[in-house]
Amino acid sequence: MIGIFGGTFDPVHIGHVRTALDIREDLALDEVRLMPCNVSPHRSAPLASGAQRLAMLQTAIHGEPGLCIDERELHRPAPSYTVDTLLSLRAELGDVPLCLMMGMDSFQALHTWHRWRDIIALAHIVVMTRPGWLPPTQGEVAELIMQHGVYDPARVREAAAGCVLLRPVSQLDISASRIRNAVKAEKSARYWVPDGVLNIIKKEGIYR
Ligand code: ATP
Repeated sequence: MIGIFGGTFDPVHIGHVRTALDIREDLALDEVRLMPCNVSPHRSAPLASGAQRLAMLQTAIHGEPGLCIDERELHRPAPSYTVDTLLSLRAELGDVPLCLMMGMDSFQALHTWHRWRDIIALAHIVVMTRPGWLPPTQGEVAELIMQHGVYDPARVREAAAGCVLLRPVSQLDISASRIRNAVKAEKSARYWVPDGVLNIIKKEGIYR
């Protein structure tokens, strides 16, 4: 069973890698693939280049066997639609259960994603709690929870796709924007990102 954790990763921080590890252990996933997007359809262009975001991801997961990077979105012309990514993964991997991982903030906005209703037929959606964000109680995404929500994590092993699972993870009130703002203000971003990531940010003068 494979976890797919997409994001801009501008930059990757410990809120990403610790929660990725939490879910890998929680659901006994074979691997979690961190998938940097090329250009997100939902937000302005990243400040760091694709190559810089990739280098930061590589150093962040170095030595952690359960985490790897899937570069397919970086190599695909923008924008990076998740539904296209899942279709290409399905074509490659067959009927293996796929867990699309996202934080509660991303999940809240799921109904704005391209062909969002097709996603649940292609993967399970594993939503990670995030400080300051609660599950939606009304609207289309809340309806998706009512239709597809499961409580028992074992359910995701029983089918290739189709479940929505909300899981608690380490609560780390860290965001990439907080890090970019700190660097810009010449404040320290230490301990929010692995030291290797901080070194790249400093050496290449990113976010200044
Ligand atoms: P930004 O501050 O620029 O919006 P971000 O920190 O949310 O960035 P992204 O790369 O946009 O990082 O996020 C990728 C995914 O990681 C999203 O699904 C997001 O919800 C999730 N995520 C990011 N930070 C955390 C965190 N601290 N805890 C749980 N999930 C997180």
